[in-house]
Amino acid sequence: MAKLIDGKAIAAQIKDECRDRVAGMKAEGIEVTLAVIQVGSDPASTVYVGNKKKACEYVGIRSLAYELPGETTESELLELIAELNGRKDVNGILVQLPLPGHIDEEKVLDAIDARKDVDGFHPQNVGALCIGKPGFVSCTPAGIIQLLKRSGVEIAGKECVVIGRSNIVGKPMALLLLRENGTVTVTHSRTKDLQEVTKRADILVAAVGKPKMITADYVKEGAVVIDVGIHRNENNKLCGDVDFESVEPLCSAITPVPGGVGPMTIAMLMNNCVESVALQQ
Ligand code: NAD
Repeated sequence: MAKLIDGKAIAAQIKDECRDRVAGMKAEGIEVTLAVIQVGSDPASTVYVGNKKKACEYVGIRSLAYELPGETTESELLELIAELNGRKDVNGILVQLPLPGHIDEEKVLDAIDARKDVDGFHPQNVGALCIGKPGFVSCTPAGIIQLLKRSGVEIAGKECVVIGRSNIVGKPMALLLLRENGTVTVTHSRTKDLQEVTKRADILVAAVGKPKMITADYVKEGAVVIDVGIHRNENNKLCGDVDFESVEPLCSAITPVPGGVGPMTIAMLMNNCVESVALQQ
């Protein structure tokens, strides 16, 4: 039977570590502040923003909520970002995605000061990751590295295969595995014979966005399998990109959905907020 990688427990550990560090900073008179901007009232976004606020409260980070109406213009949003960029008392700025269609997401994300970009989406931070310089790293892939390390999975020298090449998961994931000295292959929708490639993986990360697509046919015996996907099945139950029932008996360790990668994203956001203080100094 595969070892279950417990993302809930590891995320709780990281949040507790952040809480201790924030308490230490408070004792030195330093307050950590995150500004969270939501435009419109998309219900899923409202849930995500609420979870981020709750995590801030737990860790001791001050959160400033900007709940803007759906009709907010791009220039109004850019003005707010410019104001927050200039505020010394704001360490992190997060714009909840997706933004309404009339606002250019890329323009907005690029407008955030890279030193306050706690989501790690700014081109400057992506570039820093690429060449191994300090900067913010996208939270989900950063969380996966923590899951592996804290579960005792060695990355150096391992065959690592990432399925998916999105800017927020697949690409930064590949760069982080490379930084940890893995031998990394990135696969995508145009990959020929996907199973032949994924079956070479000692560590397989599925960020494909297709429910239960990764069955036992894609997995080498003894592999470590990380499932990034989040979907609701026909019974409204959560499932991932990996067909857990068929893959679990074959692999050495696996993340469940829910309770695997999901909780790590907010924990790493908290970690990025704490790190922002040092980065800004
Ligand atoms: P995306 O749709 O932007 O990217 C999917 C990638 O999969 C693309 O690069 C595409 O080339 C590749 N792909 C699609 N079909 C394929 C196929 N048949 N074979 C091989 N590759 C294929 O998705 P994303 O934003 O990277 O997210 C991936 C999944 O992770 C989604 O289910 C998303 O909901 C989930 N997600 C979870 C978290 C979390 O916190 N756990 C965070 C972000 C995303």
